[in-house]
This record gives sequence, structure tokens and C-alpha cells, in this order.
Amino acid sequence: MQKTENAMRAQLLDRSALVLNRSWMPVHVTTVRRALCMMVRDVARVVAPDTLAVYAFPEWIRLSDPPTRDYVRSPSVHIPVPEVVVLRGYDRVPCHEAPFTRRNLFLRDDFTCQYCGRKGSPDRLSIDHVTPKSRGGRTTWENCVLACVGCNARKADRHLKDSGLRLLRQPMRPRWTPYLNLRPSQQLESWHRFAPDNRRSVH
Ligand SMILES: [Zn+2]
Repeated sequence: MQKTENAMRAQLLDRSALVLNRSWMPVHVTTVRRALCMMVRDVARVVAPDTLAVYAFPEWIRLSDPPTRDYVRSPSVHIPVPEVVVLRGYDRVPCHEAPFTRRNLFLRDDFTCQYCGRKGSPDRLSIDHVTPKSRGGRTTWENCVLACVGCNARKADRHLKDSGLRLLRQPMRPRWTPYLNLRPSQQLESWHRFAPDNRRSVH
């Protein structure tokens, strides 16, 4: 029983929380664990996604009807799990470029073969050079896509136009977003209204 409770608590603490800067722009996704640390230090405050009410940590843990169903429980206190926090002293807007890494490529292509559209686990997908390396193709965002074993074998060492395959979409360097390190399925419903494209509805 004790073990299950600890495991559940760890799972809740490892969940994702969206971090907004002082101007309410999403800048980062962190863990609930780190969000709680920031709240305890009063570096960040919780945002209720529906009402946009902002709570300091002592208020948050005393709410009788917090906007979340999940609690991190300890013997002395039950802490509602925050989904969105806003920083009190940071108003810069990050502008990073998405680094070209294997992990980021899997995320950009959403674990999907870019030729046939089949989804797969990482061991069923490999990185394909659209213009093959042997023909001068470079390892870049614009020339690399995920391909399943079948499509990779079909394409082999040929140019795209000679392979009979078609790309689902033109590969591009992804725009940086605070959600870059997450799969779409890991993003919380409550974050959507803070997405850069929806900001007009926030203020
Ligand atoms: Zn395929």
C-alpha cells in the first residue's frame, strides 16, 4: 500500500506543468516537482486555467475547491497538482533554435513514417536522408525524415523521384515552442488557451 502511494506521488510529481513568463507567454515546460519548488520559493504562482486566477503557494494549498482533481499527498498537507504556473520576475521571450537531434526529429515527425504515415515505436523507425548521403545529402532538418523499415528498404539509396515514394510533407526545421520536448499527446488540455496562437483570448 505504502509503495503504491509513493509510486503515485512520484508519478504526479513527474507530470508536466506549463511555465508562463511575467507577460503570460509560455516559455517552458517543467515538472510538477519543479513547479512546486518555484511556488514554495514564491518565484512562481499557480494559474487556474479556467478563471485565470493566480494563487501564491499558501493560498493554493488552502483552496477548498481547487481547479484540479489530483493531489500530492503527504501526512501533513494535500497539495493540488498545478498545471500552469506564472513566473513573477521573468519577462524575456525565449528564442532558441530547435537543435537537430534524433529525439527532436522523432518529435517533429511525431513517431510517424513520413512516406506511408504509419506510426511506430523508435525501434521500428529510422532516420532517412531524403537525398541519400551517398549522393551528397546532408544530415539536416530539411533532408532527414523518419521512415519505417519497409519504406526505408524501398527507398534504399535512391533519390526521392526515382523511388516511387512521396513525402507526406516537406521536412523543415521546427519552430521553437515551449512544447518542443513533448509529444502532442503529453500536452495538457488546460495549456491550449496559453498557446502563442491563442493569446488574444487570454487578455
Ligand atoms: Zn513507411
